[in-house]
Amino acid sequence: MSKTDDLEIIKNRILNEMVCPLKDTAKNIVFGKGNCDAPIMFIGEAPGEQEDLQGIPFVGSAGRELDKLLHSINLKLDDIYITNILKYRPPNNRDPNVEEIYRHTPYLIEQIKIIKPKIICTLGNYSTKFVLSSFNIPNMKDVPGIAQIHGKLHNMIINKMNFIVVPLYHPAAMLYNPKLRPELAQDFLEIKKILNKY
Ligand code: URA
Repeated sequence: MSKTDDLEIIKNRILNEMVCPLKDTAKNIVFGKGNCDAPIMFIGEAPGEQEDLQGIPFVGSAGRELDKLLHSINLKLDDIYITNILKYRPPNNRDPNVEEIYRHTPYLIEQIKIIKPKIICTLGNYSTKFVLSSFNIPNMKDVPGIAQIHGKLHNMIINKMNFIVVPLYHPAAMLYNPKLRPELAQDFLEIKKILNKY
C-alpha cells in the first residue's frame, strides 16, 4: 500500500469516529495536504474559517503568508507535506484545549509515522511544544515559548523516528506583529540550509 492509501485510512478513521471533539461544530475535516514523500513536514495549530470551509489546511491568510515564505526559499506545496495539531476547527478560532490535543494528536503521530519526514517544522507554540515534549502532552508546559526557541534546531528521536525539528513562529503571528517578519524569513533560510543536505 502507498503512503497515500495509508493516510486515507487514517482520515477515514477520524471521519468514522462517533464522538470526536470539535467534529459537531466544524464543517469539514482538515486532514493534510502536499507531498507525502517530501522530506519536510510542517505542523500548524488548527484549521481556521477558510480551512474549515474548504477542508484544506493553510488556504486562508496565514496560508498565503506561508506560501510566500516557502516561495522565498524556492519551495512549493509539492515539496512539503502540511497538517495541523487539530483536524477540526475550534469555534471562533479559539486555542486548542487539552482534551482536544489528547484526542487529535494520535492521528498526527500516525501521519508522521507514515510520512517519515527528515525535517519537521513546527508553526507556533502548540505544535512546537507537542513535538519538542516528545509527544508527551503533560510535558508541553515545560517547553519554552516560541519567542525563545524559534530557529533553533533540535535533533529528536521519538518512537524510533529520527528527525530535525525547526521551531518557527506561526505565519499568522506575523500578520498581527509585522516585526516578526524578518525573523521568520531568517528562520526559513535555516530550513533551506538543512534541506540542501538531503
Ligand atoms: N492556522 C493553522 O495553524 N492551520 C491552518 O490550517 C490554518 C491556519
